[in-house]
Amino acid sequence: MELNQRQGRIIEIVKEEGPITGEQIAEKLCVTRATLRPDLAILTMAGYLEARPRVGYYYKGKSELKQISEELKKIRVGTYQSKPVVVDKNLSAYDAICKMFDADVGTLFVVENNMLAGVVSRKDLLRASIGTQNLTTLPINVIMTRMPNVNYCKEADLVHEVVQLIIDKQIDALPVVKETEAGLQITGRFTKTNIARVFLDIVHSTE
Ligand code: ADP
Repeated sequence: MELNQRQGRIIEIVKEEGPITGEQIAEKLCVTRATLRPDLAILTMAGYLEARPRVGYYYKGKSELKQISEELKKIRVGTYQSKPVVVDKNLSAYDAICKMFDADVGTLFVVENNMLAGVVSRKDLLRASIGTQNLTTLPINVIMTRMPNVNYCKEADLVHEVVQLIIDKQIDALPVVKETEAGLQITGRFTKTNIARVFLDIVHSTE
């Protein structure tokens, strides 16, 4: 929550002089008690101030965790996403394995006519490898998780909502996409590693 200038001043006054009555705060700010009422109600509801009957307002502050949580909730996918690793749906399972090693990723995004068509993960390739199929002639199109079952996100999505999706669906990565007339164009990759980076940034930001 963004505080306005007067709310900021009220907090300063209460911090220095609390407990202090609404009348006294109003006097210091040269406004009427009625003018202050909405600000005091907001600050009380938001947890900055506490009002004790016949005593006045005193500073309660916001817990650090609550502040961190509010900051975390503002972070968007676009700030943390990585470059996507994209392959064509006709690539063989064998070449997909090589690509995973080369690109050092655990998930490949599959396109058809440059638009998102599916996702291939390590497990999909392991499953294909323990069968009797010839991996050099097996197209990933056959083993991928395909649209419309692919979960994806957009750059403007909030990270905490995307994390919830990753947890709920028990997957490691999401393609970041842009909607176009031709379909979903892949612009990025959002993975559990990106989530770990958010965590590290928060830790280091307080040092
Ligand atoms: P791993 O196979 O390395 O454990 P995941 O847990 O991400 O990786 O993948 C598990 C299954 O979920 C695979 O079958 C994969 O195709 C599928 N999958 C992975 N990412 C997505 C996604 N974004 N949307 C839908 N299905 C996915």
